[in-house]
Amino acid sequence: MLHQTGKAMIIGKPFLTSRQIQNKVKELANRISDDYEGKDIIAIGILKGAFMFFSDLVKLIQVPMDIDFIVASSYVKTQSAGEMEIHADLREDIRGRHVLLIEDIVDTGITLNFINKLLLERSPASLKICTLLDKRSCRQIDTDLDYVGYQIPDHYVVGYGLDYENKFRNLPYIAVFKEENIK
Ligand code: 5GP
Repeated sequence: MLHQTGKAMIIGKPFLTSRQIQNKVKELANRISDDYEGKDIIAIGILKGAFMFFSDLVKLIQVPMDIDFIVASSYVKTQSAGEMEIHADLREDIRGRHVLLIEDIVDTGITLNFINKLLLERSPASLKICTLLDKRSCRQIDTDLDYVGYQIPDHYVVGYGLDYENKFRNLPYIAVFKEENIK
């Protein structure tokens, strides 16, 4: 794909195929269903990136749940800006409730740490974190993750909800993204 700035955006072969992702989603949903048996939860998706993972995962979790979303960002293109912005907050009150926070990818940990703190101040009964992808080698702030789909190396990935400049979110698989100058 050609970029307006004379750079080519290159998407490699699937790094994680749709089938691999769906198998992992099932595995995570089974673990979550077992752990929360007998409880009601509120599943909170961090948008936009988690929208696809969130919707596949909640379909397979077998405990009663409410859902809500928080819209946050910390990134400018492929570089972490290190600053967080909440664009839209929760609609639901989470006091005394079992919160399952669902994220697409944890990189530096800044986003999750910020949202985690924000939600803990609202006194939930419990708060667990589920992420599909974990770039552990990039971590700047230590964050406990309860459910991790895949640990991946330090590549910038797109697809399955993850974007580059808001593109590629609709790919059903995850691929490594590169940008090259055109000669
Ligand atoms: P962190 O705050 O942990 O550095 O970054 C978390 C957010 O940065 C994610 O929710 C995601 O939006 C974005 N991000 C981090 N790594 C990647 C990546 O490899 N690809 C894409 N598309 N977004 C990423």
